[in-house]
Amino acid sequence: MTITAGTQDKSVFLRRESEARGYCRSFDVVFKSARGAMMMDADGREYIDFLAGCASLNYGHNDPDMKKALLDYIEQDGVAQGLDLYTSAKRAFLKTFERLILKPRDLDYKVQFTGPTGTNTVEAAMKLARKVTKRTNIIAFTNGYHGVTMGALAATGNKKNRMGPEIQLTGVSRAAFDGYLGDGYNTAEILDRMLTDPSGGIDEPAAILLEVVQGEGGLNPATAKWTQRIAAIAKKHGALLIVDEIQSGCGRTGTFFAFETLGIVPDLVTVSKSISGFGLPMALLLIKPEHDTWRPAEHNGTYRGNQHAFVTARVALEKFWFDDALVKSTAAKAKLVTQRLTEIASTIPDARLKGRGMMQGVDVGSGGLAEVICRRAFDAGLIIETSGAYHEVIKVLAPLTTPDELLMRGFDILETAARTTMAARTRAA
Ligand code: PMP
Repeated sequence: MTITAGTQDKSVFLRRESEARGYCRSFDVVFKSARGAMMMDADGREYIDFLAGCASLNYGHNDPDMKKALLDYIEQDGVAQGLDLYTSAKRAFLKTFERLILKPRDLDYKVQFTGPTGTNTVEAAMKLARKVTKRTNIIAFTNGYHGVTMGALAATGNKKNRMGPEIQLTGVSRAAFDGYLGDGYNTAEILDRMLTDPSGGIDEPAAILLEVVQGEGGLNPATAKWTQRIAAIAKKHGALLIVDEIQSGCGRTGTFFAFETLGIVPDLVTVSKSISGFGLPMALLLIKPEHDTWRPAEHNGTYRGNQHAFVTARVALEKFWFDDALVKSTAAKAKLVTQRLTEIASTIPDARLKGRGMMQGVDVGSGGLAEVICRRAFDAGLIIETSGAYHEVIKVLAPLTTPDELLMRGFDILETAARTTMAARTRAA
């Protein structure tokens, strides 16, 4: 029965909103407000948020310092939409990014403000790599997810997103990600062999594009050794190395950039959805200066650099990245996540842990089972999603700032949901 009046009236969504809608089908209530790691529905019911805007809210909802800075900026008639004009908000953000993120890591990157979504940034990276190398082919990996606009979609592995033969996706060759073929195979060496062999069948690559921890693809972390080998292979074959940090960046894996601990420096980096800190849409492409060959406005767009996001992003960097407190607390929280997921995995035959840092999950072996557990968890007040080729991985993306007590409450809900589901299955068998 569809409720057609009152706080949970969803009739206009069902009547008017496109069938393309997605998350709202899994979390089928009308939300009204959100703070920290909590979301509230229109009836005042509380939910612990282990999805965090799919890693766009690494610092939680409505951080009070970001909110205040934004309200002050709006109150003072700060520029709200400024194309890519020079503004004081953009200047303050760039200076802070340079001081707190690039300089301490000895990184020299130019910053390109693309359109505000992850997929926009991936498009820019792919185009730039093609322009720099004068080649077309881009190598992307099994289980990679890079967005759904046509260029980025060609690099995305997921069949459902790729849709079918009616959508022509070109210019990308697929390679096996780290571990994809099991322990006995070094997939980097297979790729090198295929690229070296004149009959290997892979056109000369403009770029190798990868996530160092695959998010949508099922929380698959690449090892440092494999990633370094891929970087060397890119160099050997004259390709740029693009690391897509849209989901894994801004502290999610424990360090600001997920690639930081792997001993590589990519040519191009797509920066996380959490860069604005407040969930406001903004995306960056980092470019090694020698590759910044764009002509003025060659890759343009009306919405490049979100002025309000510049304000909140600057506060986010100043608040969370001026020292190593967040890095330390994220490491401690990640340990708790590992502990609790290990307990949960022990209740499910053959379940195994996956991921890194605050981007961990448990592979329960089937999408059907993961879905039932997540649905039960949601009924009990926890927002949590699945990932992986078969949606078989229950994925924890709690805000990095979730208080330990709330994190534990969320895991209590998840564990109960897992145990109840397994008990019901045993009874039915
Ligand atoms: N790259 C990665 C690694 C992602 O996880 C996503 C989104 N989940 C994207 C690109 C696309 O970002 P957006 O949805 O903002 O276009």
